[in-house]
Amino acid sequence: MPGPLDYRLSDEQLALQKMAREFARQEISPVALKMDEEEELDPFLIKRLAEYGLQSLNTPVEYGGSGLDAVGICIVLEELAKGCASVAVTSAATALAAYPLLLAGSDEQKKRFLPPIGEGGGLASFCLTEAEAGSDAASITSTAVRYGREYVINGTKAFVSNGGSAEFYLVFASTDRSKKAKGISAFVVPRGTPGLRFGKKLRKMGIRAADTREIILEEVKVPVNNLVGREGQGFVLAMEALDLARPGVGAMSIGIAQAAFEAALNYARERRQFGKPIGDFQTIQNMLADMIMKVEAGRHLVFQAACKLEQGLPFTKEAAMAKAFASDVAMEVTTQAVQVLGGYGFIRDYPVEKYMRDAKIMQIFEGTNQIQRLVIAKQLFA
Ligand SMILES: Cc1cc2nc3c(=O)[nH]c(=O)nc-3n(C[C@H](O)[C@H](O)[C@H](O)COP(=O)(O)OP(=O)(O)OC[C@H]3O[C@@H](n4cnc5c(N)ncnc54)[C@H](O)[C@@H]3O)c2cc1C
Repeated sequence: MPGPLDYRLSDEQLALQKMAREFARQEISPVALKMDEEEELDPFLIKRLAEYGLQSLNTPVEYGGSGLDAVGICIVLEELAKGCASVAVTSAATALAAYPLLLAGSDEQKKRFLPPIGEGGGLASFCLTEAEAGSDAASITSTAVRYGREYVINGTKAFVSNGGSAEFYLVFASTDRSKKAKGISAFVVPRGTPGLRFGKKLRKMGIRAADTREIILEEVKVPVNNLVGREGQGFVLAMEALDLARPGVGAMSIGIAQAAFEAALNYARERRQFGKPIGDFQTIQNMLADMIMKVEAGRHLVFQAACKLEQGLPFTKEAAMAKAFASDVAMEVTTQAVQVLGGYGFIRDYPVEKYMRDAKIMQIFEGTNQIQRLVIAKQLFA
């Protein structure tokens, strides 16, 4: 007889969740609104994140990282996002930049570049998007030309998360424009490399504390051993890294949605109108029931994708479904949470309007939800 599916987290996973939850409750939540208002991450918080091993989530312990598997990463990112999505995005973006190195980097490259973002407490950036190449990432125009033992990189990258504060930049540039996607290669550009400049920090609707900006590469020279994998392998590495990271975007979305749901539920218990708590009104009860149903459905999709990934099963469709569904849920649930709080939901002293602003980016970055649906459909018709 087949047994039931085990929906419980293991003791180890529960301990990880508890640690991340406590960290978010004690260290992140108290400063979340201030960081949002000032559009700046608390540097002390980022240092503490690394001390807790919550920074370089996907990097193996031998290279100074947390060494978490896909499920562990989702557990942590959900909890961090409950505290503040900007903090979660900072950690997730660092993990995204590490993936190409983990997938195709040499042992020497991993030893050189990964410890500073793990135990070193630094950040990393994944630099693919350009002003004219967003969803159509294969059309990037940044170039890398080899001269002897060096590559010279030129180009401008748009919307780079952790842009001004990374230890290294994982840059995608074309080594052969005639080959389009197959001519794209991946390079590590360390912080402080001459010719690497940063644009102004972008002013955003949500995840305001996260550092997002343009990076400009002007005659940036890197040694040939900063090429990750082979020449022409970069686009595949970028797509694989984004695939691997998608359950994590879903998890951050669920963290935001869960936080909004909890805020709405607490408010519904306390707020009185017409002589009773608004939670006594069936309309409000229905809203809350719909909210938690969707949050839990999203969480199941996230864990399904992470489990399949971990088990070595095909997970591309599941990861895209998790990312698209969970971020759509985050947008819907945060909007409903604002509604449950009425006028107070619209006021910046309460956290729910921030959740609503933060949720929006989850539908846009790391492949918009329209692109996720294309990914899902491609798998259906494969
Ligand atoms: C805060 C923030 C952080 C980011 N961080 C990073 C980062 O760290 N590294 C990085 O490389 N990038 C990053 N990005 C870029 C992000 O991934 C892109 O913005 C995203 O992929 C969409 O690209 P675009 O903005 O050029 O939109 P476009 O591609 O121009 O899309 C515009 C609209 O058209 C739709 N569309 C486009 N093509 C299709 C199609 N074929 N079918 C149907 N609809 C389509 C899109 O879904 C969207 O609705 C970040 C962006 C933001 C805003």
